[in-house]
Parts: sequence; C-alpha cells; structure tokens
Amino acid sequence: MTATHVNGIAVVEDQPTKSGISRDGVQVTFTQTRHLLLADGTEIYGCQSCDYTSPNSLSIRPHLKVHKDRAPKSEKARPTGAPVSQPTSAVPSGSTRAASTLTGTDLASLNLGQLVERAHLTEQMRAQRDTARAETAAVRRELVDQKDRTATERSRREGWQNRAEKAEKKLLGMRALLQP
Ligand SMILES: [Zn+2]
Repeated sequence: MTATHVNGIAVVEDQPTKSGISRDGVQVTFTQTRHLLLADGTEIYGCQSCDYTSPNSLSIRPHLKVHKDRAPKSEKARPTGAPVSQPTSAVPSGSTRAASTLTGTDLASLNLGQLVERAHLTEQMRAQRDTARAETAAVRRELVDQKDRTATERSRREGWQNRAEKAEKKLLGMRALLQP
C-alpha cells in the first residue's frame, strides 16, 4: 500500500510516474513508482506496494526488487525441500543395482561350490573334446590306410567319413563352449 502520509504530511495526489520516455509516440509511465503530491505542495516518489518514499524517482525502481524477491523466495523453499526426498528414493534404486550385479554371472560372485562345479564341468568338456579330437585323428588315419581298398570297403569308409564328420562337428561345438 502506497504511503498516505510522508513525515506526517498527507498525500493529496497519487499518480503513475512519467518516465520521460515515449514508445511509439506513447508516454511510458511507471505504474509501480508513484508520483505523490503532498498537502504542502512537495512532490515525492513512492512505492506502489508499501510506504517507501524517496525524493528521487530513480530510487523506487531498485526498491521494487524487495517485493519481487519475496514471492520467489517462498516458492524457492519448495525446490530446496524437494531434493531432500530424492536421496530417500535413491536408496531403493541403489539396492536394485546391487541385486542386478548379484544375478549377473560374474565369477567373483560365485561361491566356492559353484566354482568347483564350474571347474569340474570345464574339465568334463575338455575330456569330451579330447575324446572327439582323438577319434577324428583315428578316423583320418584309417581313411589314409583305406585309400586303395576295394569297393566293398568303400561303404565302410563312408561310414568312417560320417563318424569323422560327426566328431569334427562335436569338436567345433566343444570349441565354442570352451571359449571364454
Ligand atoms: Zn515497496
């Protein structure tokens, strides 16, 4: 509320302050800076929102910040309160992150029993691979030996070829499994 009295002297007239600036031929007025006329004929400038007055019209505009800051301050109180709730919501997200690492097949997360089981499985696969490799080698040797055998023996050789192909496929499969 604009001052109604200044130093005990009544304000007899309250007008928006003429800025002295014209925009598009229209005189610009500062409605928040009041141009006051006191009962004794003194001209003074006052704030629209409070009883602040000044003989200098230019000192009213900087003063208006007081009223602008008051509203944003109370609104700013909410955002500063909001982050407080964020760390509490971050706790469940942190626990899910820990759970996801546990479900991952990370070697570090396996217990001793699981590691032994895995090692045993790998050994088993190696043994199978070695057997397949040995069989492939045997079949190849057999094929070389039978190179000049008769037609009756060719069918037997084809049987060996099937075995060789199967063994080689098995080897490829083993190799894929053993790759880290
Ligand atoms: Zn004021």
